Amino acid sequence: MKNVILIAPPAAGKGTQSELLVNKFGYVHISMGDLLREVVASGSELGLKIKKIIDSGALVDDDLTIELIRNKLKTLNGQPFIVDGFPRTFYQAQAFAQVLEELNIDNYVAILLNLSKEDAVKRIAGRLICKCGKSYNIYDEALKPKVEGVCDKCGASLVKRDDDNVDSFKTRYEVFETNIAPIKNFYEEQGKLVVIDVNRAIEEIASDIARVIKND
Ligand code: AMP
Repeated sequence: MKNVILIAPPAAGKGTQSELLVNKFGYVHISMGDLLREVVASGSELGLKIKKIIDSGALVDDDLTIELIRNKLKTLNGQPFIVDGFPRTFYQAQAFAQVLEELNIDNYVAILLNLSKEDAVKRIAGRLICKCGKSYNIYDEALKPKVEGVCDKCGASLVKRDDDNVDSFKTRYEVFETNIAPIKNFYEEQGKLVVIDVNRAIEEIASDIARVIKND
């Protein structure tokens, strides 16, 4: 199985597809957003700074994200991984290639989930999350919680993400649009890029991804 770098605009379903890959194939899921939110939750001074940036929809410092990913990958001992939400800048993509080379990891594919801005807006409006990490969408039958406002998995109350508001979304989408072209070219030139359209049923997307990750 190939390691996966999952690149996508906000609310394209990175988390949902990652969860499927973890459950079906035993991937370790590394979400850069989650790693950063862990630093925020620690309540440190750095955490407070990061929270402000995340809530505004801007990107946190490149070098910090690279350090976080390097440290995380070192703990894996060869287990297949899926990295979601990283790289988000060309600089990160280049630095990540170096980290992967350092760790002798060459078996990977960059999957770009393709979604229009209009569709992303709709998804953001309906997204609810649980503190256990599970994500829902009240406008999508397949992603609705069984009981309104309650997590299927752990029973806790669902909330909106602090950064799922119109202003932050606009910034996050613009940041994505500005940065994606060079990242896409970077992986395309290495023959590592696969683009998957995600304005479809979750299972269809998952089966496309399953085809891509098989080593042949
Ligand atoms: P996510 O959970 O992937 O939507 O990420 C939430 C927020 O965390 C983003 O809007 C950024 O503020 C920050 N973030 C996540 N990944 C990165 C990254 N690779 N580089 C910089 N900031 C990031």
